[in-house]
Amino acid sequence: MNDTARQITLTEWDRRYAELRAAGLCEPEYGGPLGRHVDDGDLRLQKLRMDNSAAALRLWNFFLSEEDRLHRCIAQGKKLVGTMKDLGTVPVMAYSLSNLVAFYPDGAWWLPCVMECSTGLLETADSLGIDDSFCPVRALLGAFVQQENFPLPGLLVCSVGATCDDFSAIAQRLESLGFPILWWEIPHRRRPEPFEAAIELPGGFLAPDDQVAFVKSELQRVREALEAYSGEKLTDALLSAGIGRANQVRSLLSALRQRVYCANPCPLPSLEMLIAEMLAIHFCSDHNETIEVLTELLDEVDRRVQAKTGILAADAVRVFWVNPVADLRAMNLLEDAGGRVCGAEYMISHALDAIPTDLPPMEALARTALADTMVGSAADRAQRICADIARFGAEALVISRIPGASHCAMEAAVIGEVVQARIDIPILEIEVPPLTDAIEPTLRTRLEALVETVRERRRIDR
Ligand code: SF4
Repeated sequence: MNDTARQITLTEWDRRYAELRAAGLCEPEYGGPLGRHVDDGDLRLQKLRMDNSAAALRLWNFFLSEEDRLHRCIAQGKKLVGTMKDLGTVPVMAYSLSNLVAFYPDGAWWLPCVMECSTGLLETADSLGIDDSFCPVRALLGAFVQQENFPLPGLLVCSVGATCDDFSAIAQRLESLGFPILWWEIPHRRRPEPFEAAIELPGGFLAPDDQVAFVKSELQRVREALEAYSGEKLTDALLSAGIGRANQVRSLLSALRQRVYCANPCPLPSLEMLIAEMLAIHFCSDHNETIEVLTELLDEVDRRVQAKTGILAADAVRVFWVNPVADLRAMNLLEDAGGRVCGAEYMISHALDAIPTDLPPMEALARTALADTMVGSAADRAQRICADIARFGAEALVISRIPGASHCAMEAAVIGEVVQARIDIPILEIEVPPLTDAIEPTLRTRLEALVETVRERRRIDR
């Protein structure tokens, strides 16, 4: 069997899967050939190139089998909590209770891409008055109405306040359709005034202590709602244990990011790294399995690093990527152009930072929620991006905008200005819709131009 690390198509994966099975591959219950997901409607897989390792196979199968897992949880007597918008905090609380399973309906964001707009989710959102002037997260409205993409949760929780206009409007529309929501408020994070006590948050931002206290009181309301729904007391001891388990995932991801983004040649494609990072926000509905999946990926990366092998040429241009892409294929396009991702801010950095364990658990969770890069200013977010660009040695920055997204109308300009003032690297701003096929030649050309600019700089610097 040829075990050379490389990216392969879905058709090649069929052959690869047969080889791995013949060689004795053991799989978890959700395992199987990737091609079966196309039969379930995940058509975009046919246009992607994926890593050829058994670890990547497990990652993809885990990611694509979440709906089945949620149905199985219900059959086992567990209760579902739909957590919306905070991306990484309320699920830690929910998973601290033994009979709750949290997931993000916001994840419907990727359905138009993965299912190649074949299920009418966006059309349903259109019919409800939420048209394409909104970001693709509007697909969640279609998913709730059609009830075909995930089972309906018995409790829906959503953060408001420092939340983008798109999500506020969409969640309010959802509630108007008869889906009750427990709202909790997160304020816009501001820098402390000189006379205020400043609290350092995970990741390094500062916030005034009264904002932390306010978020803690809001999360206390969520805690009480989770207790009432679950029928179990959410004690500090349970919360601390839940924080410990979340930190296990965060620590594995931190190690994975450090090794993949710093190694040369690149040991794991940006597409698989993007999916892996997303596991941090709610563990894809199975915390233990997330740990297994990430551990196997890390082992594979370690093997490749030790063997000095990778999936891209050693001179691939090191790019820092801002914002998740609505079309997963965009990550393949960067690598086709001669680039690789070395650092990313996919709007979930606060879900990757370790949650403090030397504080009372609700205080620690409040600080984590306020550390969200999306609840502060774009300038703050840019500072964090600058620090990570330096840490991972990126040579270029791509700011990938999301069509219709209100959070980033001017954000790219602000981030670009801050980065430009501090670091001398070329910056490219692009927009990535859920399906890039129609604009692929333009996207390719722009990414190739960025890569060529960096290569020219390298030649001059030599
Ligand atoms: S506008 Fe931005 S932050 Fe809001 S839901 Fe869309 S992608 Fe997320």
